[in-house]
Amino acid sequence: MTAALALSMTACGKSDTGTGSNPPVETAAKFEAGTTMEKLQKAGAVKVGTKFDQPLFGLKGLDGKPAGFDVEIAKLIASKLGISADKIEFVETPSKVREEVIEQGKVDFVVATYTINEPRKQRISFAGPYYEAGQDLMVKKDDSAITGPDSLKAANAKVCSVTGSTPAEKIKTYVDAANIVLFDVYSKCADALRTGQVQAVTTDNVILLGLIDASKGEFKLVGKPFTKEPYGIGVKKGDVKFCEFINKTLNDNAAAYEKAWKDTAGKVSPDTPKLPTTAACS
Ligand code: GLU
Repeated sequence: MTAALALSMTACGKSDTGTGSNPPVETAAKFEAGTTMEKLQKAGAVKVGTKFDQPLFGLKGLDGKPAGFDVEIAKLIASKLGISADKIEFVETPSKVREEVIEQGKVDFVVATYTINEPRKQRISFAGPYYEAGQDLMVKKDDSAITGPDSLKAANAKVCSVTGSTPAEKIKTYVDAANIVLFDVYSKCADALRTGQVQAVTTDNVILLGLIDASKGEFKLVGKPFTKEPYGIGVKKGDVKFCEFINKTLNDNAAAYEKAWKDTAGKVSPDTPKLPTTAACS
């Protein structure tokens, strides 16, 4: 996103580029020796992988700080570790590098519109799910040819998505490889749609809603989700205790979860979700 656009969004108060909430920090928590929780509590700081260009989920503002639903979830988890929001170092983590930054210990956990699936579970563990999205399509406002994934071939549409994402895989069943354009981040897909280099962008409906909100009426959602994308929080493979701590934090803090939604993604998707049943950690 350009600085000018960010500025105009902030100026009219639409975008969530502020510093967001600062959940009360749990000072008295006691953690078992040797756990990730104890280590992070002692350090008093945490590194979190998130997106920097996804409005309402993880969008870096002019103050240099990302804001959005994923950022709020990260702050909630950190607060229960005794770590205040200003002691979180957010690290930009595009879709393709999520597993490797966890494996290499470059971040302590990842909250980044991150679908839980089997191939990823071979490399990392997931807490959650904390939300369920679905893959959809975004097109220009005046496009009437693209009505769903089955219409893409007939429209001879070029479709943009992001390397290493689940939508980039799934779209192969609907579109010839030559018509799939991949970037590292979704904001580049939105630019390509704007300039007419592609006719559609595909990823999760809620990510697209954020881009549509930021487009000031230029784009629209096709509105027929065709996959299920349960979002998880990525941790080191086999860190069951940390995963269970995150699940407990989500389950024990329904009010903070709902507030996080209302303050961010709820601006474009007003139905506040209920926390899905979290899965067993492994
Ligand atoms: N949820 C999907 C995924 O994890 C798409 C969104 C993204 O790329 O972050 O691949």
